[in-house]
Amino acid sequence: MIERLEGIPNIVYRNNGTVRYTERRQVHDDLDSNYPDWANVAGVTKDVAFIRASQGCPYKCKFCTFPKASPKFGQRSVESIRDELRQIRAAGIKNVTFTDDHFATNPRRITEICKMMLEEKFDFNWFAGIRAASIDEDNAKLLQETGCKVLCVGLESGDDRILRLMNKGTSAASNMRCLEILDRHDITAYGSFILGFPGETDETFNNTIDWINSSPLKLYKVFLFYLFPGSVIYDEQEEHHIGFLGAQYDYRLWTTPTMDALKASELLREFIMRVEKAALIYSYSPMYAFFPLLSRGYTMSESLDLLNLKTELVKSELSDSSYFSKRRFRRLKFREIAGLLK
Ligand code: SF4
Repeated sequence: MIERLEGIPNIVYRNNGTVRYTERRQVHDDLDSNYPDWANVAGVTKDVAFIRASQGCPYKCKFCTFPKASPKFGQRSVESIRDELRQIRAAGIKNVTFTDDHFATNPRRITEICKMMLEEKFDFNWFAGIRAASIDEDNAKLLQETGCKVLCVGLESGDDRILRLMNKGTSAASNMRCLEILDRHDITAYGSFILGFPGETDETFNNTIDWINSSPLKLYKVFLFYLFPGSVIYDEQEEHHIGFLGAQYDYRLWTTPTMDALKASELLREFIMRVEKAALIYSYSPMYAFFPLLSRGYTMSESLDLLNLKTELVKSELSDSSYFSKRRFRRLKFREIAGLLK
């Protein structure tokens, strides 16, 4: 088995505790023909199928490494998506996750894919990631009719100045409009936020919390800002006066004129405590939280109730004084590590 893995390019595997990388080779990635033969995995996976509708990203959000990592943007034909979804249905799989950062970059594309799904009478529960600007009243209705349950939206911040600094290409108002449309069509929005992007202040943080609490957002995740090599902001460190808590680069230990990583990590707890109605999910994709529940017969609303309950438990743990001391210990450790790097 191990010998067979060695012959496959572009994979990472563990052998006797050692991580091994196989030969890196340029992939000829024809989007319309490179997809799994689902007949071969029938019976192996029942919970969820992963499928892609595109490759790369045409946008350039400054915190993101994706545009550099996958600069060539391409979309798969609707007919090829139709064919793969047919195979997934034949394999008996009921839940589908589109793995793209943007399942569709404009409203028309969403309409085309949804119409195809309605023609085929697919009855999947499905999830995808979108940009807020791709949603309008008409395609939200189609999304609902096709069984789309959850859409992940990269909201990042509720403050327009931070959105501009990020080069996000959206505004707090356009993001709010998207959330309201999805809410009217009973599609659960799952918002993703970044805390501590250069320029973040107490005021922009408070604006984000107020924005979330005035929105119909039902689910969210929040990440601390990290200065990843490959992101645009990494190449603009001087311009944004970014430094480090230690003597050398560490993507986690950044400082900026308005905030540093330690302050941002303190605000993370406050973020969770102050968001009033949305449930916290701490996984990359909501499918890890939802689809196991849906495939065991829970409804969306029961699944949301469970996630809200879990969020209340997280909040009660965060407000527990013994937890504080554990947190303080971790924070001290963080300072200690920063000190060691000096
Ligand atoms: S955050 Fe999303 S939209 Fe922005 S560059 Fe990355 S993948 Fe593209």
